[in-house]
Amino acid sequence: MKQQEFLLLMLFGYPGCGKGTIVHNVKKMAEKTSDVEVISVGLGDYFRQKALNDINIRDVVDSGELIANSLANEAFEFLLYKAVTDYVIATPPSQQASKVIIALDGYPRNVQQWHNFVTFVKAKRHFKVAAAFVDVPLEEIIRRAGVRRICECGRTFVANPNGCPDCGKVGYPRTDDVNIEKRIAVFDRETRQVVHIAQQLVEHQISVDGCDTKTAAEQIWQFLQ
Ligand SMILES: [Zn+2]
Repeated sequence: MKQQEFLLLMLFGYPGCGKGTIVHNVKKMAEKTSDVEVISVGLGDYFRQKALNDINIRDVVDSGELIANSLANEAFEFLLYKAVTDYVIATPPSQQASKVIIALDGYPRNVQQWHNFVTFVKAKRHFKVAAAFVDVPLEEIIRRAGVRRICECGRTFVANPNGCPDCGKVGYPRTDDVNIEKRIAVFDRETRQVVHIAQQLVEHQISVDGCDTKTAAEQIWQFLQ
């Protein structure tokens, strides 16, 4: 069996700073190579999905507050395990990448979750850790949230007179975006401390300007080589 490296890349930045788009772009770059695989694990997406059927989770998600630590910690371990096993099962050993990068978005979001993350990573020695910090000015975050629309067909787009680029419907703002100022306040209250800790403790790290998600993705891709 060949030596495989698993890298957990934590992505930090304000809600709506473009982490999802950046990961999407990094994935596309990885698809052009055979020795690197990028898998995304997003806790925000996971809980937004869960909220459709669980009113308690929906209340928390809609309020812009953080999901309870016990649920977030559990979801992180479950999603990570699932992502890795799905990849290993679906890909014949001869075709598996030598470097598997797990882009982790939405975790850890407060200091307690950070401690859980560190304990987990220490126990599973085969994971290396890196961090990417995505900087976008607050005004830009709020501007983006104001013009972002989500369509019934699932597409996210910028509000425009022609509507959804895929089907033409007008779309509607995400609850997340309506709550953007609350989510920013929660980030400042809870997650900013984790950012400071990670900036001091994570050996492999990069900061990028999230105003240009394309360049940011290229910089992160270079950093991951
Ligand atoms: Zn549509």
